[in-house]
Amino acid sequence: MTPAKIVWQTDDTGNSVPVSGEFGDVYFSHVDGLAESRHVFLNGNQLPERLAILAAYQCFTIAELGFGTGLNLLALWQLWRQLRTTHPELITSRLHLITTEKHPIPLVDLTQILTLWGQRAPELTTLIGQLLAAYPPLISGCHRLNFISDNFTVDIWLGDAAESLAKLDTQLDSHSSNQPAHIDAWFLDGFAPSCNQSLWADSIFAQVQRLSHLGTTAATYSCAGVVKRGLQDSGFEIKKVAGFGRKRDMLTAVMKLAKDNASVSSEVNKSKESPILPNRPTHIVAIGAGIAGLMSAWSLANRGIKVTMLDKDAPLSGASGNPRALLAPKMTPIHHVDEHLHTIGYLYSSRFYRYLNQQAAIHATPPILEPTGALEILVKSNVSVEEIADYPYEMATTLTTAQAEEITGLSTLDLSTNLYLPQSGLVNPQAIKNIILMHPLITFQQLAVTHIDETENNVRIIGHIDNDMQGNDIKKNDTVTLDAITLDADSVVICAAYEGHKLDSRIAKCRTIRGQLSWFTTTTEQQTHLPKIPLKYSGYCAPFLAQKGDAELNTMVEGQAQFLLGASFLDADTDTGIRPQENQQNREKLITDIPELDSSLPTDTDNWQARAGIRTQTIDYHPLVGLLADSKRLWTLSAMGAKGYALAPLCAETLADMMLGSFSPLSAAMIAKISPNRARVHALK
Ligand code: SAM
Repeated sequence: MTPAKIVWQTDDTGNSVPVSGEFGDVYFSHVDGLAESRHVFLNGNQLPERLAILAAYQCFTIAELGFGTGLNLLALWQLWRQLRTTHPELITSRLHLITTEKHPIPLVDLTQILTLWGQRAPELTTLIGQLLAAYPPLISGCHRLNFISDNFTVDIWLGDAAESLAKLDTQLDSHSSNQPAHIDAWFLDGFAPSCNQSLWADSIFAQVQRLSHLGTTAATYSCAGVVKRGLQDSGFEIKKVAGFGRKRDMLTAVMKLAKDNASVSSEVNKSKESPILPNRPTHIVAIGAGIAGLMSAWSLANRGIKVTMLDKDAPLSGASGNPRALLAPKMTPIHHVDEHLHTIGYLYSSRFYRYLNQQAAIHATPPILEPTGALEILVKSNVSVEEIADYPYEMATTLTTAQAEEITGLSTLDLSTNLYLPQSGLVNPQAIKNIILMHPLITFQQLAVTHIDETENNVRIIGHIDNDMQGNDIKKNDTVTLDAITLDADSVVICAAYEGHKLDSRIAKCRTIRGQLSWFTTTTEQQTHLPKIPLKYSGYCAPFLAQKGDAELNTMVEGQAQFLLGASFLDADTDTGIRPQENQQNREKLITDIPELDSSLPTDTDNWQARAGIRTQTIDYHPLVGLLADSKRLWTLSAMGAKGYALAPLCAETLADMMLGSFSPLSAAMIAKISPNRARVHALK
């Protein structure tokens, strides 16, 4: 990415204003940028009126060409918040802004610009704080920011707008809702055409047309001929209206000739009389309560859908239930990064878990992510140290040996080649579960599912409670009947890892890989010799403190220091018994890569504690996310291998967007790569 070069100029009234060094144009009107945003983009698209009847749409989607300083976003967000207080029926509705930016403003400059706005418009201060806290590192690709308490989702696509728009998938053949995803309103805010032709090019207007439907609106301050022609040639009816400040005119436009008129209903039909879209599910069952099921439930419940999670065991009994998981990026050469699922998933997870940390603080429950940072010892990285230099600091950087020693507390190690991952941390799975199960629309029920029957109108799930189960309301020594239990849902998401194939043979039979994690309680003396932060090598190790909740599950004493080492890797092994020799293997893996730690690690590995789980992996390493072949109501999110904590939050967002016919944060190409039907599609080709 080439970040924006901000040039500060002084306007007529003596105020400092940012100007683009690349394009030599202003980011916003020097008269009053905020008032201009409201006039041109909000009123020009009639958003105060249209958003207020949003209950009929459930989700209203706006796309912006040119994120710039985020001022339009802030003006829109503030309007949305106001409307949600005056129109309680909007409470479950959702506002989605998709914005594009080729030269993102570095965080320090953005902070300076928005701090000035906070002083001029104090009503924006809280929003500015939240936006700056969520602002992504400047890495190409889509960065989803979810402002969950306001039902406001922002997808910032960093990269050239024409390329980013081309990646948006209307998901015509991959979702079950009867409408393709579409944009409801456009903010055409790409500098004057005389300064920047790229945002007014034919390729942009072609995308605007592809993504619009009948009644989609657009607004821009520019009345240049190229803009008028571009809009008219792509099916819009344009109107000149009064401009803002010194500008006499501006343009508004309404789509009259969308590419796919037949498959979309006209906006006129969407009124308060039809408050729910015909195929919008109201109750979804997620089968499997590991991280895939929990995240699917969360993303769907935040879109106002009731979710019942089912599992034959307690939540997090499978591979995702280790006491801690290391959230760390898997580096790739920077030119692949926008289509690298792990990178964009990792960045989203890291933002999302930090948001959950705030929720945990409110509820006085243990934090979800301990933001420790991590040091990767470059044992077998596929990225050279030179390539790391292309990454922004927040994602990855290299440290001098002295800095690495300082951060890890280890002066005896060879730390000359290292990769420091500042936003990494340790995830506490049980803490995530606590927050998710507090959601009023999510319930958990213990049930071993035996049959799933899809009909035209719903899905019937049949299962039973096993004798040795202790379901929600079943006490330990109760005699449990084995009668079949039946549940109906509008749709089902199968999140059952390697057991998904047994529930529906259309879910690929995946590789099963046993992994045992080991840990032990450390003495004060041991702590001085062991690393202070997580280390990543061909395995990983990390110190952590036992929290409330660790005690019952993992027989730890709250507040006691622990050290974990992960993990063994045994192909085609589905046994989850603890094996002392795998503790020994975990120790050996560490000292093979970092021999200097041999003397610091206790040798009594037979006494270490451990937990084994079965990871599920496809042959191409991509997860399975999407609608099953020839089905309208059966979906899956599974096969994330050992990367569930990096991939599940973003994949669950994608799944929920597909189920409800919204734009997902993944490109069409990536959606095809993770399709559960990809093998079949390849075979057909
Ligand atoms: N909407 C912004 C705001 O609220 O501050 C102002 C946008 S500014 C007028 C135009 C933006 O378009 C700049 O940030 C510029 O870097 C971006 N831009 C220019 N050409 C682009 C392209 N081809 N693709 C994506 N963004 C582009």
